[in-house]
Amino acid sequence: MAGASPPAGRRRLLDDGVRTATSAEQTKVEDIVQEVFNAYKTNHHASQFVLQREKHFHYLKRGLRQLTEAYECLDASRPWLCYWILHSLELLEEPIPESVTSDICQFLSRCQSPQGGFGGGPGQHPHLAPTYAAVNALCIIGTEEAFNVIDRKKLLEYLHSLKQPDGSFLMHVGGEVDVRSAYCAASVASLTNVLTPTLFAGTAEWIARCQNWEGGIGGVPGMEAHGGYTFCGVAALVILKKEHLLNLRSLLHWVTSRQMRFEGGFQGRCNKLVDGCYSFWQAGLLPLLHRALHARGDAALSMTHWMFDQSALQEYILLCCQCPAGGLLDKPGKSRDFYHTCYCLSGLAIAQHFGSGDLHHEVVLGIPENRLQATHPVYNIAPEKVVKAVLHFLQQPVPSPEPEATAATAD
Ligand SMILES: [Zn+2]
Repeated sequence: MAGASPPAGRRRLLDDGVRTATSAEQTKVEDIVQEVFNAYKTNHHASQFVLQREKHFHYLKRGLRQLTEAYECLDASRPWLCYWILHSLELLEEPIPESVTSDICQFLSRCQSPQGGFGGGPGQHPHLAPTYAAVNALCIIGTEEAFNVIDRKKLLEYLHSLKQPDGSFLMHVGGEVDVRSAYCAASVASLTNVLTPTLFAGTAEWIARCQNWEGGIGGVPGMEAHGGYTFCGVAALVILKKEHLLNLRSLLHWVTSRQMRFEGGFQGRCNKLVDGCYSFWQAGLLPLLHRALHARGDAALSMTHWMFDQSALQEYILLCCQCPAGGLLDKPGKSRDFYHTCYCLSGLAIAQHFGSGDLHHEVVLGIPENRLQATHPVYNIAPEKVVKAVLHFLQQPVPSPEPEATAATAD
């Protein structure tokens, strides 16, 4: 500790002296983070945090090439890789050559199932998670060719085939139910204009039942609150315009308590370690909550800042989550991957940009070149790409007729 102190106002969790197995893990992480902070203070007299744009760009570009060259790989989450890489590149404002986007469109069209929806690779059974990733990737590309890949009539039929009488959705036919599926379904349906009252009858009420005594949302009613599920539940309710079904105050209390007071990043659940990917899943909730509370006429809301420490999160991402060779990661000592690269950068974008519409305020820590493109907090793609997709598909009617069996559950 000699010479270097933690960032102003930060206090380590265990300064008070309690020791358990989980607290030992927490102490280890705090020690590593402390080392990173110390090394930074010794080496940088001018306080400049730097996002290693070039390094990240090259890491992503290499991933993109592998994607377009080796189609028939066994990997079952290729649409996810497309989305994580394309979204990271759009946040960095790196253009993607048209030949590459066209290859991706052709690849994703081969992942689309004859039953509707997308599988993890060509010829695989459709599943809501890769369906969400594929639709997001195609909307980021945003060309006529990309939009034309999506078979909306089949997509609507597929979503109906997953709908349960209690309002929830299966992740895939014969699969499990959890709150992710409600978000994936609402996200793709709203982007492609197949969102109907029948399809989502009872869904908002089912999601509201997943909010528990902690204030956050669990995978299904009665489960522990978790950052990923909470984001999915709240974002789905925003799409369905039913945020008011939640206890917003207890949700706000839960999510703000997940920002680690020493590390500056977020944990996914109570008593867990900090992890870079929750920079989006948790911090991304604050714009959604801000909007919901604003709609309620909450007069105490800030007009310049989200309700979390935006600078502390940027510090954590820039100092602790960048791999020197490019790419971003969970915490120091972990290895980089495209998932963490996407969600660390997405969280960084949330922390840099406050506001929506006319209201905009930026807090960019470090050099001005650290500034990323803003992201849409509901869909996690660039806001103008959301607008473009919505306007495009609004020109096309909602496919009909809807299946008889599920139509009976409306109202
Ligand atoms: Zn993670």
